Amino acid sequence: MTSNERARKYTAQHRVEVLAWLGGKCEVCSESDYRVLQIAHVIPVRRKTRTSEDSGSLLVRSIRKLGEEKARPLFRLLCANDHLKETWDKREWSGKHPF
Ligand SMILES: [Zn+2]
Repeated sequence: MTSNERARKYTAQHRVEVLAWLGGKCEVCSESDYRVLQIAHVIPVRRKTRTSEDSGSLLVRSIRKLGEEKARPLFRLLCANDHLKETWDKREWSGKHPF
């Protein structure tokens, strides 16, 4: 195992842990496959540019830093479909659709 692979596995474990803190399933359809679950902010974060960090390892890292008790009311769990549908409905896209 290369150090890169090890780092990826480490992050994946942290992600599964954080997903469990937040209920472990999509709050809309109860999807519990961690591969499609995404962490959503309860209060939408507005930024000039959206980065992949929003749902990436940086978010997982910051949630782990907060701890389970503090993080739970701040974040929600949605599957990719419901997250996309909700984001679309809220018109959070900065004008550029990914498809
Ligand atoms: Zn869902």
